[in-house]
Amino acid sequence: MDSLYKELQQFGDVSLRKFLAKFTTFKIGGPADRYVEVTDTKKFTDLLNFLSGRGVDYFLLGGGSNVLLPDNGLRGVVIRVKTNKMTVDGNMIMAEAGVSFGAVVTKAVQQSLTGLEWATGLPGTVGGAVRGNAGAVGGDIAHSVSKIKIWQDSEIVELTPDDCAFGYRDSMFKRSTTVVLAAWFTLSPGNPRESLAVMQEILKKRAGHYPSYPSAGSFFKNIPLKDWPHPTSELPAAFVEAGRVPAGWITEQAGLKGLAVGGAMVSREHGNFLINHKDATQADVLALVEEIKAKVYNTSGVELEEEVQIVK
Ligand SMILES: Cc1cc2nc3c(=O)[nH]c(=O)nc-3n(C[C@H](O)[C@H](O)[C@H](O)COP(=O)(O)OP(=O)(O)OC[C@H]3O[C@@H](n4cnc5c(N)ncnc54)[C@H](O)[C@@H]3O)c2cc1C
Repeated sequence: MDSLYKELQQFGDVSLRKFLAKFTTFKIGGPADRYVEVTDTKKFTDLLNFLSGRGVDYFLLGGGSNVLLPDNGLRGVVIRVKTNKMTVDGNMIMAEAGVSFGAVVTKAVQQSLTGLEWATGLPGTVGGAVRGNAGAVGGDIAHSVSKIKIWQDSEIVELTPDDCAFGYRDSMFKRSTTVVLAAWFTLSPGNPRESLAVMQEILKKRAGHYPSYPSAGSFFKNIPLKDWPHPTSELPAAFVEAGRVPAGWITEQAGLKGLAVGGAMVSREHGNFLINHKDATQADVLALVEEIKAKVYNTSGVELEEEVQIVK
């Protein structure tokens, strides 16, 4: 056993050559040279200090619901973030980075708090959601979070939402090595019965809308109206109202539903979901992405941008 393996054991459960596919919703991804599961925030930050002090590369894996991992896996250390503390103080819920976002939504309703119903059915963890400014049905992290605790260069500090430069499926976390440790959500007193009714509606919509095959959710970002190269008068009114043209509609207009490369395919149910319909590899998905981008550009002059984090 190499010495790094032994040293890593002080921070969590360590495995060598752990296949990562099963830790992702896309079910794609080769082995991690070293894989560490952290469940305690102090050990998590100690591990980050240790690895950055040693100059060892690491990759953070939360729920694996917004990543496309490489077929040959990852070198260095994969840190599986499973920190799981959650506390309630009046209208405020604190959740550590590894807490599933579904558990935060459930906790809110149990505490008769409202404001997170939009995240019903959102896969993944708090850390991944904050980094990507996850959002749905008109809600998002940027408008729900009140404080974020982060690790940056061996420092632990608290940030405000403004400090995070949140944008559409974007934040400063995407352009830095800053690590989300925990987040606080300040909510309002609500009525659990009403919240549950809203959540059931959202779940019904999601069930009817999203394919059942493995995927990483919406693959491309929707196009802001300002970047749409054609007269908006030709667009469905709902898109103009929303200020965005859905990427799924654009691929559908280009006739791409069902387009496949190897085991990867554009879902027939949702034009912005790329699915793993049979033992897809990252190479299959990337080849499919290139084909989609070229065809969409040739038919509508739009350049699609990935929402999913492609890891190489
Ligand atoms: C069926 C399906 C439906 C989806 N629906 C939606 C939706 O409605 N709206 C939406 O916005 N998204 C949606 N997604 C995408 C995904 O669920 C979200 O992006 C989610 O917030 C990702 O969280 P995660 O923990 O799975 O992140 P991961 O996939 O594990 O990681 C994503 C990125 O965040 C980084 N990361 C992970 N933890 C941390 C941390 N603690 N600090 C800093 N960086 C970190 C990782 O290194 C990686 O770069 C969907 C996905 C699926 C599969």
